[in-house]
Amino acid sequence: MVTSKAHAVLLASPGMGHIIPMVELGKRLLTHHSFHVTIFLVTTTTSTSQILQQTSNLSSLNIVHVPPIDVSHKLPPNAPIELRIELTMLHSLPFLRSSITSINTLPPPSALIVDMFGLQALPMARDLSMLTYVYFATSAWFAAVTLYFSVADKKIMETHAESREPLPIPGCKPVRFEDTLEAFLSPGGAMYEACLEAAKESVAADGILVNTWEDLEPAATKALRENGVLGGFTKGEVHAVGPLVKKAEGGKKGAVLQWLDGQPDESVIYVSFGSGGTMSENQMREVALGLELSRQRFVWVVRPPCEGDASGAFFDVASGVDSAVGYLPEGFVERTEGVGVVVSLWAPQAEILEHPATGGFVTHCGWNSVLESVESGVPMVAWPLYAEQRMNAFMVSEQLGVAVRVAEKGGGVVGREEVAEMVRRVMVDEEGVRMRKKVKELKLSGEKALCVFGSSHHSLSQMTKHCQVYVS
Ligand code: UDP
Repeated sequence: MVTSKAHAVLLASPGMGHIIPMVELGKRLLTHHSFHVTIFLVTTTTSTSQILQQTSNLSSLNIVHVPPIDVSHKLPPNAPIELRIELTMLHSLPFLRSSITSINTLPPPSALIVDMFGLQALPMARDLSMLTYVYFATSAWFAAVTLYFSVADKKIMETHAESREPLPIPGCKPVRFEDTLEAFLSPGGAMYEACLEAAKESVAADGILVNTWEDLEPAATKALRENGVLGGFTKGEVHAVGPLVKKAEGGKKGAVLQWLDGQPDESVIYVSFGSGGTMSENQMREVALGLELSRQRFVWVVRPPCEGDASGAFFDVASGVDSAVGYLPEGFVERTEGVGVVVSLWAPQAEILEHPATGGFVTHCGWNSVLESVESGVPMVAWPLYAEQRMNAFMVSEQLGVAVRVAEKGGGVVGREEVAEMVRRVMVDEEGVRMRKKVKELKLSGEKALCVFGSSHHSLSQMTKHCQVYVS
């Protein structure tokens, strides 16, 4: 049977944590599933595009940059980052629509894939007779919680918020109160309503893709796949298609990678809190002194601190600040010369994690960082800051046994002794040896899922068939 090639338009919302997995999905669709792919990138500043150029090899892809849009004047001061992203996406729609309708290459666009912040584009896609897909660059567990949100009786959430008892999710692990996404806890609030709307749009899409694989999350992927478990509400099929992670791409080595070349295998702990995670100045000091106390080699990506004692906040690395080293305790850089490297703002994370010298990762547990660590066979110190990171931290430490978790101090500072102890548990202790063995097994299971006969390859092939049947 001759099948028609399908053309997928991918819409990535601002933030490297959203753009990177969308780009990886695009590469996969192009190289393994014979899709024609166009990726629209929405960025808030031109420097985000520059960071992306340094981070991902985009040469094989057809990329359209949506002109940067500044929505600051339309938002109240201190508006949450999620609202800023959603508004930016909303303002990108006219450009997106006119670009899609003027694409005159063959085959014409037939499917739109968006992430959770680009759902406003779905009605437009339906209007243009395109299939609609939502890509969750999160765990299946978090996707299940979000989708369940659209059908669950509001009372379940209210009871969870009031009683602080775990939130029951059919077919999945209940979510402990302390790990719940804050936005789910304030019924009626702006973020709560935005999440609810997002969940409703997702379940009405023609399909859902999740960046995970069956052997990593057997229960949650089963609950999502067997639609009835969560309430039989999704219109389309749910496909586990991961791990789609950025891989080291070779090329010129910068100073950090050259330094790593000179270090013994698995001797360096990499410390980084994602594309924008930052901490208070007091907390940064304790991390610095904890790293010194641990007596381990390290690479640390530092950002300017957030104000006050907040345990975690988002810092826009594209904001124009060019160095954060000045915020470190006096003498730290000099005292640690030779045993540690401090990188300001942004580092080649995939290359660092895959380097043989890297033996551990202190991470905020953003889902991309978790998957990159697993796919590099590196155990973690889980230090979640915001968003769904506490669920991810629970999964890697309590369920998968590939991380130790920092005990959060409810906004207070985690002391240097605890930082040192966590680092040594992963890098030096027997516990670390066991975690390293487990994470290497998971790495293999992820690689297997993407092989021609693997579960994720099969899922993406199913989605491909659906699109091809639609266009033929
Ligand atoms: N990243 C990077 N260099 C940095 C910080 C982050 O390359 O200095 C990449 C990282 O490899 C990952 C993404 O940015 O692919 C961050 O995504 P994640 O889901 O871990 O966290 P988020 O930034 O969304 O909180």
